[in-house]
Amino acid sequence: MANIAFIGLGNMGGPMAANLVKAGHKVLGFDLVATSRDAAQAAGVSIAATSIEAVKGAEMVVTMLPAGKHVLSVWSELLPAVAKGALVIDCSTIDVASAVEAHGLAARHGVMSVDAPVSGGVGGAQGATLTFMCGGGDKAFAAARPILEAMGKKIVHCGDAGAGQAAKICNNMILGISMIGVCEAFTLAEKLGLSHQALFDVASTSSGQCWSLTTYCPVPGPVPTSPANNDYKPGFAAALMLKDLRLSQEAAKTAGAATPMGAHAEEIYAAFEKAGHGGADFSGIINYLREQAGKK
Ligand code: NAD
Repeated sequence: MANIAFIGLGNMGGPMAANLVKAGHKVLGFDLVATSRDAAQAAGVSIAATSIEAVKGAEMVVTMLPAGKHVLSVWSELLPAVAKGALVIDCSTIDVASAVEAHGLAARHGVMSVDAPVSGGVGGAQGATLTFMCGGGDKAFAAARPILEAMGKKIVHCGDAGAGQAAKICNNMILGISMIGVCEAFTLAEKLGLSHQALFDVASTSSGQCWSLTTYCPVPGPVPTSPANNDYKPGFAAALMLKDLRLSQEAAKTAGAATPMGAHAEEIYAAFEKAGHGGADFSGIINYLREQAGKK
């Protein structure tokens, strides 16, 4: 069992750190916010006074932070205190360029590193059923795998430094676009007098089939577990979808990829957030589309 430092004990990091404790690891955590520290402590995580304190003597360090600037700042601060040969894993969703820069910082300190963003949300973090998309060298990935397995059910080595973040934003760009597509189909069906269930029964077994329809259906009824049945409470908040779409568009611009549908999805989610719905589940975009129809 390993000594693990865990920095960033928020909605995702808190339950992930708790699952490492459940798996028998010794976890010393830190977060800037007292309520996050207290919740993690109640779940068995020991709390350090600072992030530097947390990483002293750790064989592994996990970070779960809001964005690239936080990861670069925290890694710059704590890497001088991390033992040579130790492993640092960043599970945050951040831009590919910052992820690559973070790997470079770790290498300069003789520390192994993996970018390992997740899919599965707070439910996946609590239930240890996350999917991890990993970027980094073979040795670092092999060292990270057993730790990630205590927090998730699927661990994929996507390639070198930054490949995990690349996979994450490509996947979520598909998700943002496909959710809008499914919502458009339901709003059109409503106007054409077709019932939600009839469209679902046909499209879920036809070429329109996709996760946004069959697992996360944006209208109440056909998939009882989807947020549409719970007044669009997240789930996966629209603000987080917008964050990931923005990351995909930054990456597309830097890499020179044409992603017109991704760009349009970003615009639509930005308008949804501006209208005050950033805290709603991202499938709630269907209500925004209905409103737009009313404005025509
Ligand atoms: P969160 O805001 O709940 O948690 C982030 C935590 O980091 C906060 O508690 C904050 O206090 C802490 N923090 C910030 N700067 C710090 C510092 N310098 N030192 C120590 N702690 C610091 O966010 P979250 O929902 O847990 O998401 C974390 C990451 O996971 C984000 O990158 C997000 O995009 C990604 N993600 C979230 C979800 C989700 O459903 N919530 C799903 C997949 C991926």
